Amino acid sequence: MTTKYLFFTGGVVSSVGKGVTAAATGLLLKERGFKVAVQKLDPYINVDPGTMSPYQHGEVFVLDDGAETDLDLGHYERFIDIRLTRVSNFTTGQVYAEVISKERRGDYLGGTIQVIPHITNEIKRRVGLVSKETGAEIVIVEIGGTVGDIESQPFLEALRQLRNEVGRENCLFVHVTWLPTIGATGEMKTKPTQHSVAALRSIGISPNLIIARADSHIDDSLCDKIALFCDVEKRAVIPMPTADVLYEVPLLLDKLGVGELVLEKLDLKATRKPDIKPWQKLVEEVRKPRPDVRIALVGKYVELQDAYMSVREALKHAALANGVEVQIDWVHAADLEKDRGWDVVRRADGILVPGGFGSRGIEGKIMAARYAREQKVPYLGLCLGMQVMCVEFARNVLDLEDANSSEFDRSTEHPVIDLMIDQRSITDLGGTMRLGLYPCLLQKGSRAAAAYGVPQVNERHRHRFEFNNAYRAPFEQKGMLFSGLSPDGKLVEIAELVDHPYMVGSQFHPEFLSRPMKPHPLFMGLLKAAKERSKK
Ligand code: GLN
Repeated sequence: MTTKYLFFTGGVVSSVGKGVTAAATGLLLKERGFKVAVQKLDPYINVDPGTMSPYQHGEVFVLDDGAETDLDLGHYERFIDIRLTRVSNFTTGQVYAEVISKERRGDYLGGTIQVIPHITNEIKRRVGLVSKETGAEIVIVEIGGTVGDIESQPFLEALRQLRNEVGRENCLFVHVTWLPTIGATGEMKTKPTQHSVAALRSIGISPNLIIARADSHIDDSLCDKIALFCDVEKRAVIPMPTADVLYEVPLLLDKLGVGELVLEKLDLKATRKPDIKPWQKLVEEVRKPRPDVRIALVGKYVELQDAYMSVREALKHAALANGVEVQIDWVHAADLEKDRGWDVVRRADGILVPGGFGSRGIEGKIMAARYAREQKVPYLGLCLGMQVMCVEFARNVLDLEDANSSEFDRSTEHPVIDLMIDQRSITDLGGTMRLGLYPCLLQKGSRAAAAYGVPQVNERHRHRFEFNNAYRAPFEQKGMLFSGLSPDGKLVEIAELVDHPYMVGSQFHPEFLSRPMKPHPLFMGLLKAAKERSKK
């Protein structure tokens, strides 16, 4: 079968849910019997999101093969319930790095290297890789940013060329735009959408579908207007007001006929009837009033909640499955050091310390871990959160006063968390951590084993430091159980406190594998324990 392409472009402004829309559309197509793959093209110059500040870029989402990617890949995986690989995300930086290294090697035989054709060819090659590597029948390609950005021009040009190469009948351009509302009159406007479609047409692309986003109801007359001015069929203008429940987006798109319309335009026939009942049930559950459980998330980037996107989603999945509503209280770790924010921690039914890098806020996180241990408050530590849990234990239970991670104190006498041996000779920061899926054996009878219900799991990693094995024996003597280890036994993957309702830390990032309908066992454990506590 020929590969069919669905290109998602953005209009007017970014952050209007293009990624979610693309992911939800992917789900509708998967449900109709097609093998779907997704790819995100990021027009910025960075080589990967791995070294970008979470403040600017949000969370770095890690894939099985260790690729550090854009957080939209998290939406794709959660909505479509697929596992993506490296080919599913690339940036301008990667494209240029490839072309320049070929030029340096002499591959172009002295030719002049230009955006067209060299850069656009490399973009097309990378888009083509997805169907080759995944065997997908439908490839959804989302172009980051908005039409009109200087950076995205070569991408749009490449896709325009690709459309001619693979045949117009095999491509659909979906433009996701924003309809602003004027405060004074309350009037919703289509003009910016008209402009953005005009910009798209000026580079030779006419959208086939326009998904019009707004925060409130979108009047039918506005869809008429968009159809008229933007030269698309009326039924191909899809009004999408903001959904109050994220997971309702596929249901809304389905109701508006997007699944059928896409298939019709790509000349495809569904091979099975979509079953969206589980999603309907999920949304119904979300809407039901449930008792609150408060989780204090003690982190560093709490102003920008996108920095912890998967953690937040994983908490919600597990809460739903436990029949509770999770209220996440975002606590600045550095505040705790200054005696602020403790009221929030004290009223929490559970504490979560997520992953992180750098020393800011570390002492605050250690204080939160101490509080959780002493007050027997359920605690889940993710990567750095597991490391601070061990540092705290060393300091206050083993009385190793200056215990630390050597990430934060190079000269500590007790580096209970230390640089991994393989990391010692590495100086580059980009893409050099221990990344991706690794196996972990669970110790029988432990909380971790009970939570998972299987003897071995594979989880996604992103770290440079690890538990220092020289300290295993004293930790165990005082009640810390290393309930998850690498198969060779050399690497601590999970640590848990024996005498505690639930104090568990993982060296990996369980949040990346949580799905709305398959909540992650370690998050389930936290929410279950927090629910118990909230009842008391
Ligand atoms: N900074 C720590 C390390 O490199 C933790 C990393 C993380 O939380 N992802 O090991």
